Amino acid sequence: MIRVTNIVKDHGPVRILNGASLEVAKGQVAALVGPSGSGKSTLLRCINGLEPFQEGSVEVGDALKLVGGAPHPRATLLQLRRTVGMVFQQFNLFPHMTVLKNVMAGPVYALGAPRDEAETHAKKWLDRVGLGEKHDAKPAQLSGGQQQRVAIARALAVNPSAILFDEPTSALDPKMSAEVMRVIDDLADDQQLQVAMVIVSHDLAAVKRIADVVHVLGGGKVAYSGPAQEAFAPGGPAAALE
Ligand code: ADP
Ligand code: MG
Repeated sequence: MIRVTNIVKDHGPVRILNGASLEVAKGQVAALVGPSGSGKSTLLRCINGLEPFQEGSVEVGDALKLVGGAPHPRATLLQLRRTVGMVFQQFNLFPHMTVLKNVMAGPVYALGAPRDEAETHAKKWLDRVGLGEKHDAKPAQLSGGQQQRVAIARALAVNPSAILFDEPTSALDPKMSAEVMRVIDDLADDQQLQVAMVIVSHDLAAVKRIADVVHVLGGGKVAYSGPAQEAFAPGGPAAALE
């Protein structure tokens, strides 16, 4: 579960978020849409503890709460790292490590999992994203779509409560975008996976297909939350984005 309550975020003199609130339940897939510069990445970075904020709060699960107005405590940030997975436009894999080691790194170093257990678990996730054959490859030997699928496996490997996707396909060509969206779609359909997912994407066709709920960011607030069908209907709150 993710609960964002009345977040206010300034960058210098500019107020980027001005009382943004949203909730994402366990197992729910939420899309966050809005014009370029509306603060989508900023909101994800606030949820993930990458940015302090001035007011409001972020809760992830029952035990983790970030509060605005002060730097976040280090212990909370460490806990958040293990609870929230993030997938970025630029895959941010460790270039010197094999695919398998990239996916094992979180469980081994952040969670202290035994190596053999972490390896079995990592292989399971790599199979799941269709990369069971690529354990020993280095990121540079993979296509962009494959690298992004490794990044998704890596995000899942720590058994997170939430995963945030920030434009996961915008660096990819249409074919690779489709292959990455298929993986996200498959995760979204998985009833066993009790992860709250937030996806920011310009691929609105995919958003409509995948999201259980669409949140539209505008004027620093979540101006609308509701089903994709209604959000993108003619004259609807997200219609202008198409
Ligand atoms: P989006 O992801 O919706 O395109 P962003 O969250 O990246 O929007 O940015 C929202 C606004 O905040 C933009 O006007 C951007 O220029 C500004 N902004 C983002 N990051 C910073 C920063 N580190 N310093 C100053 N301004 C920033
Ligand atoms: Mg952005």
